[in-house]
Amino acid sequence: LFVTFEGGEGAGKSTQIRLLAEALRARGHEVLLTREPGGSPGAEAVRHVLLSGSAEAFGTRMEAILFAAARNDHVEAVIRPALLQGKIVLCDRFMDSSRVYQGVTGNLEADFIETLQRIAVNGVVPDCTLILDIPARLGLERVKKRSAATADGPDRFEKEELETHEKRREAYLDIAAREPQRCHVVNAIQDEEPIAAEILAIVDQLLGP
Ligand code: C5P
Repeated sequence: LFVTFEGGEGAGKSTQIRLLAEALRARGHEVLLTREPGGSPGAEAVRHVLLSGSAEAFGTRMEAILFAAARNDHVEAVIRPALLQGKIVLCDRFMDSSRVYQGVTGNLEADFIETLQRIAVNGVVPDCTLILDIPARLGLERVKKRSAATADGPDRFEKEELETHEKRREAYLDIAAREPQRCHVVNAIQDEEPIAAEILAIVDQLLGP
């Protein structure tokens, strides 16, 4: 089973993916937790470049191609082998992040992005995508608190305008509306526990009895 987590900044993806991994492991499942951009040594190297200041010189097309290159490495080196071994794979961001960040707010044509995704995922499409939905302003407030608490400054994407973040939120909701079988929108304003319970119920249903 391949499950991806998506959503804007501060939606709580990394907390929820960790809680889901713990809950599934407690039930005896083998779980692989991974993230994008990154997740394999090659893709982590590309992540480092993409999230650094030097990437500000890249055009959006170059950036999209680099994200896709990293995704393909991650799929072939890590995700596909784990799925073949029967593991549950949980991935923090995947192809929908490219549709939203590079496609919608990067102003790239949907065709170009879809072609890149086809090449990048090479048949490995999520069975389930959890979209953590939160108003942009609230998400950004959470990010600010996190940055202050951990001394990590915001990365270059987190510095963008509120309007851009709102556009992304809408873009995620559009994807969910187009692919209701795969996508589940989760209200991420709630406290951690009820969100975790909702997510576990969705995944339990997919796992069956
Ligand atoms: O998941 P996390 O928020 O740590 O992602 C790191 C950064 O990479 C985010 O700020 C996100 O905006 C950005 N990103 C992106 N395009 C993707 C995936 C992530 O711009 N396809």
